Amino acid sequence: MTFSPVLTFNDGNTIPQLGYGVWQVEDDVAEKVVAQAFEAGFRHIDTAKIYGNEAGVGRAIEQSGLKPEEIFITTKLWNADQGYESTLRAFEESMERLGLETLDMYLIHWQQPKQDKYVDTWKALIELQKRGRVKTIGVSNFTKEGLQRLIDETGVVPAINQIELHPFFNQAELREFNASHGILTQAWSPLGQGGELLESPVIAQIAAKHGATPAQVGIAWHLAIGNVVIPKSVTESRIRENYAALDVTLDATDIQAINGLDDSAEGAGRIGPDPAVSDFA
Ligand code: NAD
Repeated sequence: MTFSPVLTFNDGNTIPQLGYGVWQVEDDVAEKVVAQAFEAGFRHIDTAKIYGNEAGVGRAIEQSGLKPEEIFITTKLWNADQGYESTLRAFEESMERLGLETLDMYLIHWQQPKQDKYVDTWKALIELQKRGRVKTIGVSNFTKEGLQRLIDETGVVPAINQIELHPFFNQAELREFNASHGILTQAWSPLGQGGELLESPVIAQIAAKHGATPAQVGIAWHLAIGNVVIPKSVTESRIRENYAALDVTLDATDIQAINGLDDSAEGAGRIGPDPAVSDFA
């Protein structure tokens, strides 16, 4: 079996570049599909408190027989739990549901600029890392300004920024900012949630050239440009197909063509909320 390449964080730990995400997956379904993902070869799982499936992910881990050092598990702190003490509490509750002793990576799910508690929340993550409860700490949906503030006020640079990123919204500027600060970029909704993106004629043509599927080409593009990528599917054949994207190697012309699909200049490419302005409970 091919194993995912790993990328190294600014804290020296490593992460499998290809992982499996479980947003919008019911808890009991999560148990089943995470088991299928492990079976397909995935060793990196992305969940969050708000997904309501940490327990299902935990059961799949327990039943897999895989050792903690063989897998990489991420969960995220929900917005309502931001703040120093509440973060420490929410973390322990997530760990209880996951059934884990130590977590591989904990992320602040959203910056919540109006709520403005993210610096204190980040200090709690730093404390959890110091205590050895979590190996790697990072953020999700952070802007350049939010990242810079965390760095300026705590001196601790997040290891990763998990953001909406797909060929229609390729985040060139934020990727460059992340890289210039030693922050890895992780792509959420990497397949654009499976809509129009997988019907793009440009991607279809590249897929035909490589004897691959459009989803595999999308994933291969993320891998080629250095993103950590966490595609989701609850269909076993697609879970396997997505994992097999590791065997698809795009050339420079393919990558150039996919880079050209970016639609962010017109503001049309984004699917989810804009982290610079969105605050939600
Ligand atoms: P995605 O881009 O991974 O798309 C998933 C959808 O694409 C599937 O539901 C299916 O319809 C389709 N699909 C997947 N594989 C396919 C295949 N091989 N062939 C055809 N269609 C296929 O979207 P996502 O679930 O939004 O994002 C992936 C993960 O990112 C989530 O599960 C979650 O872990 C994470 N995420 C994080 C945030 C955040 O705020 N941090 C937000 C959204 C998602």
